[in-house]
Amino acid sequence: MWLHEIDSSWTLFLDRDGVINKRNFDGYITKTEDFIFTPYFLTSIPMLSNLFGKIIVITNQQGIGKGVMTDECLNEIHQYMTTEIQKVGGRIDEIFFASNLKNALNDRRKPLPIMGIEAKNKFPSIIFSKSVMIGDTNSDLLFGENLGMKTILLKSSEQIDVKADIEINNFNELELKLKR
Ligand SMILES: [Mg+2]
Repeated sequence: MWLHEIDSSWTLFLDRDGVINKRNFDGYITKTEDFIFTPYFLTSIPMLSNLFGKIIVITNQQGIGKGVMTDECLNEIHQYMTTEIQKVGGRIDEIFFASNLKNALNDRRKPLPIMGIEAKNKFPSIIFSKSVMIGDTNSDLLFGENLGMKTILLKSSEQIDVKADIEINNFNELELKLKR
């Protein structure tokens, strides 16, 4: 099982909304008060940070394209996120976000592989076959699949049509699987 082959030569790609923080089903996360970590994320991120060589966040943030929030606003939220993660001994190496509208010209949104390629351009040590994408939607799983990564579905109420390599209900389950 590849789960037990993971070492510092591997990269962890994380979706944000629904994976790191609880989704806001009424709209976008536009302020830090609305950024609530998902169960067990903060208890697991130190272990994941020790295990993986790189941890990269890949997130679609169409709210910017829609004018619901600004780049500054998103940066503030991401600053808060990384600070809270650092406080518990974890780390995020880089965040890539797509702020364009769906189907816009020069679309960078998942499931397109573009942000993954941007990550590899920035960190050439990334090997996609030694990468894991954790997401809660079809577009996350397709993004991972498009780049030849392993995929993990964090299960939610979302309808999923793409087969993930592994399914988990929360990060504690992943931690237990990794230790097993
Ligand atoms: Mg998501």
